[in-house]
Parts: sequence; structure tokens; C-alpha cells
Amino acid sequence: MVTASFRFYEELNDFLAPERRKREFECACARDASVKHMIEALGVPHTEVELILVNGESVGFEQPLRQGDRVAVYPKFEALDISPLLRLRERPLRTLRFLADAHLGGLARLLRLAGFDTLYDNHFHDHDIERIANDEGRIVLSRDRELLKRRGISHGCYVHALQPERQLREIFARLDLVASARPFSLCLECNAPLRAIDKALVLDRLPESVRLRHQRFAICDVCRRIFWEGTHWQRMQALLATVLRPTP
Ligand SMILES: [Zn+2]
Repeated sequence: MVTASFRFYEELNDFLAPERRKREFECACARDASVKHMIEALGVPHTEVELILVNGESVGFEQPLRQGDRVAVYPKFEALDISPLLRLRERPLRTLRFLADAHLGGLARLLRLAGFDTLYDNHFHDHDIERIANDEGRIVLSRDRELLKRRGISHGCYVHALQPERQLREIFARLDLVASARPFSLCLECNAPLRAIDKALVLDRLPESVRLRHQRFAICDVCRRIFWEGTHWQRMQALLATVLRPTP
């Protein structure tokens, strides 16, 4: 065994046992345990970690721990660009695509509404999620920290909030999504692109009140649902406007 000391910063403390929060503490580690192994054994999924310093030097997840090492573990920085320091992940994901776990159906719909490709199926097992995320380069969204500890999941977000609108705000802030949002470009039900369609072509499928009141329509080519700027849409637009408004 070797003994190393750890200090976790900011919201990573939420994952720790109370007596270990916001302070340096010592911990016995198996000889040659990796820093990733110890961080996860202490309760923090690797997807939540953006920077690890061992004795002041940025290291990768597989760094073995030595006697007396001092380990500082940081989440994503809000304000400070640390990209030159990062050694954790080979490459950032270029296009932001998501996979929401079974408990985040509400968040999945809101992300689609904002235009982010988000897979969701409440029949996915953990191993399906791991495989699909890996194959398709998706960021896994979950409130299950054991899922996020899986080795095959390189990009993930632990979602702290419980309510879908708050979850959306949290993800927007953490991943800085404002500039990439394309509201109303995806079908809320099947995650497929929407296509603008002439009113004349869908006239016979519209309720009378919609026919009178609305001029612009979009259709999903997968489920054939028609979307218009009705009250549901307006409510969602108001929500997105508050999410998209940059924080002062
Ligand atoms: Zn659809």
C-alpha cells in the first residue's frame, strides 16, 4: 500500500463522503493503483473530471500513484481556459451529440427542442449505452454515477438537477451550448430532422383552429408528425429564450 493525499474542488465535492469534502485528506491506495481508479473509488465518476494535478503536474488517468503523492482534482472550469493543460482526453468531441439514460426523458425532449441530437430509449441497458456512446461519439447524460464510471464512456455529464428545465440549464452552462443551439430543427419524438413544409400540402391534416391561425409548418419524415408554432411551441420558445440568454 501507498498513501496519497487528495483534494477535490468545486462541485466534485458533492460526490465525496461528507468528511472528505473541501479539504485535503489522506487515503491508502493499492500499489500502482491508477489515479483514475482512486478517484472513482472515492465516488467521483471520471466523466466529471477535467484536470488532475499530481504534485502540481497535469497527468492522465492512468498515472500510477506513488507514496506521498498530492493529488488535486478539478471539474470543468467555467471561466478559465485550461485547454493547454489538459492531458485527460485524446480529443474533444466536435459535434455535440447526446445519449440520455432512462431517467432523463424530459431532458432529452428539451435538448431536441433546442436542436441537439439526443438519443433516448428507456429500454437501453448500461452496456448498450456504453457501446452506442462509444460508437457514435455521444456524451452520456445520467444521474447514475456507476454508469458514468464505465471505462467505455469517455464523455459524460452527471446531471445534478432533478427537474427537466433545470437540467437543461445545467447542461447548457456546463457545456457552453448557447452558441450551438438550433431551436426547432429536430422532432421531439424521434430525434429526426424537421423539414419546412407548405401549408397547402398539410391542410387536410390540420385542426380547424390551427388552419386559421398558423402559417408556418414543419414535418418529421420519420413519424410524419406536423409541427406548428402553437401554444406548446410558444411556451417552449419562452423557456429556451431564458436558457439562451447569456448570463450577465
Ligand atoms: Zn418524428
